[in-house]
Amino acid sequence: MTTTPQTNTTLKALAEEMLQRDDFLLCGHVSPDGDCIGSQLALMHALRRAGKRVRCVLAEDDSAPEPTFSFLPGFAELLHPSDVSGGVGVFVGVDVPTVERIGTAAALHAKASLRITIDHHAVDSTMSELVYVDPDAAAAALLVWELASYLVEKRDADIAQCAYTGLTTDTGRFQYQNTDAACFEAAAQMVAAGADPALVAREVFQNRSVASVKLESLAVERMLFAGEGSVAVSWVAASDFEELEATKADAEPLVNALRGIQGVRIACMLREQDGSVRGSLRAKDDTDISVLARSYGGGGHKAAAGFTLREPLGQAVERVTRDLQELAERTAVSPAHEGAQQ
Ligand code: 5GP
Ligand code: MN
Repeated sequence: MTTTPQTNTTLKALAEEMLQRDDFLLCGHVSPDGDCIGSQLALMHALRRAGKRVRCVLAEDDSAPEPTFSFLPGFAELLHPSDVSGGVGVFVGVDVPTVERIGTAAALHAKASLRITIDHHAVDSTMSELVYVDPDAAAAALLVWELASYLVEKRDADIAQCAYTGLTTDTGRFQYQNTDAACFEAAAQMVAAGADPALVAREVFQNRSVASVKLESLAVERMLFAGEGSVAVSWVAASDFEELEATKADAEPLVNALRGIQGVRIACMLREQDGSVRGSLRAKDDTDISVLARSYGGGGHKAAAGFTLREPLGQAVERVTRDLQELAERTAVSPAHEGAQQ
């Protein structure tokens, strides 16, 4: 476990500070994923068990909360920023490192009396007075799970179920490079506390809409390869979403189809959305694709990152494929080295 230079507290000290306060507003990032929502709700339950007044807010007004996670306790309570009235006590950003990534909730963040960041995305700056960022943590949910141990005597099934959902989604069901012993240790504690792995798997991973699977079939048909098959890129257009009545969330799993292909080291899925192009990047080896995401104005982790390009889809596909080909060539493992590894 390491923390970033911006980190100026410990989870224990954070809990002590939180126990002195009463009114909390918890927020995650735009396009919330399982770790974002799971961490937020886990912390909500923990703070409430500690007797605190807590509200959870989504980062944006115009996006519906991801229905995949509606099975989580507390999901129905997620507010939109415009629903939040009155003053803001302590604003806690979980799984989100920058003001840009909290979308329109930034206005609420600005008027909070204290700001706290609990995250696992390393960035150079910070938006909060109290910061705890551990980029080695596989999920923000792991940090919230530990924090909760200092907030309540016994972490209950609601806290555990939400945290487990964050952990299992951010580790890709304990398959990604970020999966380490700490994940399994925490998962065991969560299951012992009442998390239900089969229920989470059924709700999150065995619950795709037909539109999502059809979107994937389009993406598979359109796959482009570069770098001798080590790079796979594909795309879906706004018109595909319209024709299939598909949502943004329906496109989330598509990058996994590319990642799953033999020989592919780097996968990139592009989707036309709100007049721009959203990109999801994944690396299966040690290649740091967050550098490329940042060069496009996005960010993320070494093996999973994202970005938005404000240019036509065709142009974005060409640019990204070219840049990934170059990256793959620069980071290619020589055949001799590859042989030595086996
Ligand atoms: P996804 O491809 O699932 O949208 O994102 C993968 C990872 O990159 C997640 O950890 C996500 O938070 C991060 N990420 C995605 N898009 C952006 C972006 O535009 N900016 C930043 N800073 N991080 C992003
Ligand atoms: Mn996360």
